[in-house]
Amino acid sequence: MKKKTIADVDVHRKRVLVRVDFNVPFEEGTARISDDTRIRAVLPTIRHLIANQARTILCSHLGRPQGQVVEKMRLAPVARRLGEILGSPVFYVQDCVGPTVEKAAIELQPGEVLLLENLRFHPEEEANDTSFAKTLSSLADIYVNDAFGTAHRAHASTVGVANYLPAVAGYLIERELAMLGTTLESPARPFAAVLGGAKVSDKIAVLENLLKRVDVLVIGGGMATTFLKARGFEVGRSLLAEDKIAFASALMKYVEERRLSLYLPQDLVVASSFKGDAPYRVVDADEIPPDHYIMDIGPKTLSLYENVLKGCRTILWNGTMGVFEWKPFASGTRGIAQLLANLPNATTVVGGGSTAEAVDSLGLAQRMTHVSTGGGASLEFLEGKTLPGVAVLMDKT
Ligand code: ADP
Ligand code: MG
Repeated sequence: MKKKTIADVDVHRKRVLVRVDFNVPFEEGTARISDDTRIRAVLPTIRHLIANQARTILCSHLGRPQGQVVEKMRLAPVARRLGEILGSPVFYVQDCVGPTVEKAAIELQPGEVLLLENLRFHPEEEANDTSFAKTLSSLADIYVNDAFGTAHRAHASTVGVANYLPAVAGYLIERELAMLGTTLESPARPFAAVLGGAKVSDKIAVLENLLKRVDVLVIGGGMATTFLKARGFEVGRSLLAEDKIAFASALMKYVEERRLSLYLPQDLVVASSFKGDAPYRVVDADEIPPDHYIMDIGPKTLSLYENVLKGCRTILWNGTMGVFEWKPFASGTRGIAQLLANLPNATTVVGGGSTAEAVDSLGLAQRMTHVSTGGGASLEFLEGKTLPGVAVLMDKT
């Protein structure tokens, strides 16, 4: 069911409470924001509200203050940065509930923007406390959720408030649902999933959901180890999920019965210890030395994967191909990212926090059809789960 968005409601002169994800990173030990992507991601929603003379009341969490006021987790620097970007002042209050906040909300004029303090300074936020949600909602006439990265959490500001206000999606959530939803429900075929990451156990639900939908499955990263083991290869000291070997075997059997295509690494970069500066070499999958660790897919595998993916019209990628944080083991991840970035006629969708980070750090995010802003939320969506922060929004009629 499609959800109503801010374009479907009249916000003119209304007080609009918008849950955003301003959980931005800072330069170590300073109040300088090191990456404002999350602020920029909700600009379409904020600009729509300003243009329509709404009174915009933004709320967000930042970090994990665990229900207490933590000075360095205040949102003041975010209010300043947002003001610079918008070219107009953003009012800021040092709490998210209470008399000061109520006064600021009442005094807010059409077209003005107010940012409330970190929601998680109050333990009631994560507990989805009813009266806290009611107090928050009393500030506004309409609720907009545009915090896709927090939509998998049932908190007061993502779920509770929707009990008291008409609730609609912002443009960021609308785009995320459209892109990820279309990929799962009606992809142009052939449809390939490229899956990697550290542990197969983190990705079982994703694998199970995607298996019903894809034509091609390409596997890399630490989770390839368990599949290689299930195929009968020795995997040395690599991260292996012993208890998931049976799952991997069953999956491979399913793939065979359905005549789907499954690709596993043919060669690997292995290292003699699990360290960034460890000596390493490339070996075939049947030659992994007993005392070595799989760190990345090898060059033969990368060109095999490139050939396979070139023939696909939709490619969904989650999980890096290797330990990309360490330069010697970033080639597989870089290779896949560059390939997807350069495919002219394919829809390329990237989900997962670490994978998005890898694509970003390569400067290739703009070249993908869509890079999800919601790490954990995008994974839960790919698992086929209903996100609680989306479920509470009004359906389109
Ligand atoms: P996402 O957050 O996008 O869902 P993951 O967190 O599952 O992705 O995958 C990224 C992590 O997987 C990285 O931290 C990377 O170091 C790790 N990883 C990839 N390949 C391996 C490997 N062969 N052994 C151990 N860890 C790996
Ligand atoms: Mg991760």
